[in-house]
Amino acid sequence: MSVHLYNTLTRTKEEFTPLEPGKVKFYMCGPTVYDYIHIGNGRAFTVFDVIRGFLEFVGFEVTYVFNITDIDDKIINRAKEEGVPFNQISERFTKILFEDLEALGVAKASVHPKATEHVGEMVALIKTLVDEKIAYDVDGDVFFDVSKFETYGKLSGKRLDELRAGVRVSVDKNKKNPLDFALWKKHKPGEPFWDSPWGQGRPGWHIECSAMSMKYLGATFDIHAGGTDLVFPHHENEIAQSECATGENFARYWLHNGFLNIDGDKMSKSLGNFETVREVLAKYSRAVIRMFFLQKHYRSPIDLTEEGLHAASSAVKRLTTFYDNLSSLTAGLGDSQAGPAMSPGNTFVKMRSEFVDAMSDDFNSPAALSILFDMVREANKLIGKQMHSDEELLTLSYVKETVDAFDQFLGIVDRTESDFHSSDLIGTLLDLLVDVRQELRAKKEWGLSDKIRDALSEIGVAVEDKKSGPAWRKMDK
Ligand SMILES: [Zn+2]
Repeated sequence: MSVHLYNTLTRTKEEFTPLEPGKVKFYMCGPTVYDYIHIGNGRAFTVFDVIRGFLEFVGFEVTYVFNITDIDDKIINRAKEEGVPFNQISERFTKILFEDLEALGVAKASVHPKATEHVGEMVALIKTLVDEKIAYDVDGDVFFDVSKFETYGKLSGKRLDELRAGVRVSVDKNKKNPLDFALWKKHKPGEPFWDSPWGQGRPGWHIECSAMSMKYLGATFDIHAGGTDLVFPHHENEIAQSECATGENFARYWLHNGFLNIDGDKMSKSLGNFETVREVLAKYSRAVIRMFFLQKHYRSPIDLTEEGLHAASSAVKRLTTFYDNLSSLTAGLGDSQAGPAMSPGNTFVKMRSEFVDAMSDDFNSPAALSILFDMVREANKLIGKQMHSDEELLTLSYVKETVDAFDQFLGIVDRTESDFHSSDLIGTLLDLLVDVRQELRAKKEWGLSDKIRDALSEIGVAVEDKKSGPAWRKMDK
């Protein structure tokens, strides 16, 4: 089994071979914590969390680094507006970020480094570049000289001369070349600062990610991910400064997720169609939002619409009802692994491996979901039968184990909606009613026993008389 992924750097789908067999070193560009995260960020954090989870599912040990940019112009501007210290803004929104990630079902990373806790590493990197004359200091501001990096533009596919032509005026007269970017920003009154060989100041945004990724993953690591909007200049600049500083290749595979539009418009605050993760979570469950994201390939643009979310909501309901019924039928059976091994020719064994193949093909979640729903359709035929043989029950137990394993990284079964089974009280009451009905039947009290069955049916619970005795299940709507 091999995983293939589309690498922005080579513009091809490649077989994934990690530096160290069995291990994946994975960096994901986290947000600048100056406001609530928007749903476009939510998409990036969710799809890369699913990708990380899938890599773990197929057996890789993943070191996942998800940074927090807690010093940047946007944070300083908001702090000025509110008249508070910058760290009050960054601390407030870091806390909110983690609440939102948890609400979205995004697992904690191996490390969540904060930029302000790594300024020493950033200064050391900049010093190397200045010593090598790849970066230059102009009165306390330090810039990276893009002409010193021959392959500048290799990630975005832009050529230096084209880029130069695109820059109309040099905004900063201190720069040698308008494309040169800031590594260190000279201290301005009212702004936070740190000491450096070039005087007091603060790091530029790009150097933050180079310093934090290399600290935790090494000079060369496997995967660097982020939104498409970060390809240029952020990721291009990360490559330039990191490779110039170490003389080695930086990230080997670059993964970028597509844009998220809202009702056909590119999302932006100025358009007024800004939706935060929190606003969407107030209307839809995490399972629905995750289903909505995964119904599209992570590299495709996605359009957030009410219809799209409704469709995702129906898919979640269908899957959750199916899962509840599976749980009810297979309760007490234990792990299917304990039973006879499933034959490789079994339909569900084949579907399980087709699902894994789809995910291994550049994480094709729409194709994988379609296989999962084929599995639901096939297994529903078995679930609907009046009687189940031991072999059928073991097959269903295998299906349940498969859905559980996939849902570890998909997160699309609505656990909050599984009230029929998660609530002990409701489950106990239903068991009691079914028992009473059974006793009535033993006494040939057909009128009363049918009344119980019909009343349960009205509230969506089916009672079936099986070989092993009567059992209840939630009906498909
Ligand atoms: Zn970054």
